[in-house]
Amino acid sequence: MARYREANCKLCRREGEKLFLKGARCSTEKCAVERRQYAPGQHGQRMRRKVSNYGLQLREKQKIRRTYGLLEKQFHNYFKKADRKVGITGTVLIQFLETRLDNIVYRLGFAPSRKAARQLVRHRHVSVGGRIVDIPSYQVRPNEIIKIKDKSKNLDLVHAALKEVGRGEDLPWLKLNKAALEGELLEIPKRSDIPLTANEQLVVELYSK
Ligand code: SF4
Repeated sequence: MARYREANCKLCRREGEKLFLKGARCSTEKCAVERRQYAPGQHGQRMRRKVSNYGLQLREKQKIRRTYGLLEKQFHNYFKKADRKVGITGTVLIQFLETRLDNIVYRLGFAPSRKAARQLVRHRHVSVGGRIVDIPSYQVRPNEIIKIKDKSKNLDLVHAALKEVGRGEDLPWLKLNKAALEGELLEIPKRSDIPLTANEQLVVELYSK
């Protein structure tokens, strides 16, 4: 499967804000956005030109797509799926992205980043409703229990991530049982409860052209 292989920090610098793609490092002074507050590349330090409406829409789309670690085609497919559903397209889009299994594993705090969460899932360390699921894009449904399987409960990565952050404890749509290394999606999250600073309406405008 195709995947992005360039440096993650360049993506954050391009968007001009932290996308939290690297786990613990993102909260330290080593973060590239803190150290170099300009776009990557040879001309990154030159003054920025006035950004067009299209440019704004494009940047917002890239920001959301990169936050969730998706390729263009995957992201566009989510948009098309959201567009077919009843409701506010932008909100439905974000809800689809938030209820991906890799994102839920990350939000529960079992992994330091979405990328690491995806690897946990791919390596068959995670079960949903008692069955191993190794598809990161699996769409978790309300009341499903997401669990680190018994044989993987000693993984250092999981314990280090849980110690560092208690992400799942802060979100009203997730229930985390740290001791059992399991969590539950209580409901499809409301947009206002999703910690994502992005204007998804601009993505809708971009794709609706
Ligand atoms: Fe982005 Fe994290 Fe790199 Fe900072 S350390 S630039 S937040 S990926």
